[in-house]
Amino acid sequence: MTVPKYVLSIAGSDSSGGAGMQADNRAIHACGAFPLNVLTAVTVQTPRGVEAVEVLSAEFVARQLRSLLEAYPVAAIKSGMLTTSGIVRAVGEVLALYPEIPYILDPVLCSTSGEPLLDTEGVALLREVLLPRATLITPNHDEFRILSGDEPGGGESVRYAGTDFSRRLNVAVLVKGGHAEGDLCADCLCLPNGDSEVFSAARVATRNTRGTGCALSALIAAELALGGELRDAVARAKNRLTGSMAAHESQSWTGAGPAFLS
Ligand code: PLP
Repeated sequence: MTVPKYVLSIAGSDSSGGAGMQADNRAIHACGAFPLNVLTAVTVQTPRGVEAVEVLSAEFVARQLRSLLEAYPVAAIKSGMLTTSGIVRAVGEVLALYPEIPYILDPVLCSTSGEPLLDTEGVALLREVLLPRATLITPNHDEFRILSGDEPGGGESVRYAGTDFSRRLNVAVLVKGGHAEGDLCADCLCLPNGDSEVFSAARVATRNTRGTGCALSALIAAELALGGELRDAVARAKNRLTGSMAAHESQSWTGAGPAFLS
């Protein structure tokens, strides 16, 4: 008998299906794990961008999270869009009761179209309460700059800035280069002991990039749930995401299409 590997995602709903919880569920399912969902907000999104956001109360988010963690043997957790400082605090309080569960934190601060997806007080609290609880955080360059107060730069300087931030936090940091320039898309895994490794893939020339960060962090959480070490989980997740993007690069969607399909 096989026992399902449960991966719990804490995220917002993206009505257009490209990013958010919808992307997380596709990614977790594709790895052979099973997604459990804690919704933080419901967004109205179309190719025009984020048209509206309705946020759930922090109490209700905590209620969803507590119930699922009590009911299932959750093997890994990921969080994406948290929206408010109240939700950041509530998630931090519940996760503090489960320190043994690996937790991948995707610090979603803005949508690709520039809408803020976490309020200013939430960013400060994220730094103080949630980042130190994470197993791995997955900032892009902009998020890295905001959270660390440091400039990631390019090439070797990403390693220095990343390992310095990782050491200060005592948490692994994957600095994602997807939004940077160049033919290669390089993500740098930095560990608190000073080790670092760059995972590079040829940049896929496609408009279908919605939910890239959501899918990558969900894939890493699923790979960890299935028993991989952190380094291998990152390598496998990156390969899977790049493979999916390449396989669907020329598909024509209404607006930008989803980065991860299967
Ligand atoms: N979560 C939700 C609900 C979103 O709508 C978005 C972007 O629109 C994101 C997360 C971030 O997506 P990405 O993985 O492209 O950074």
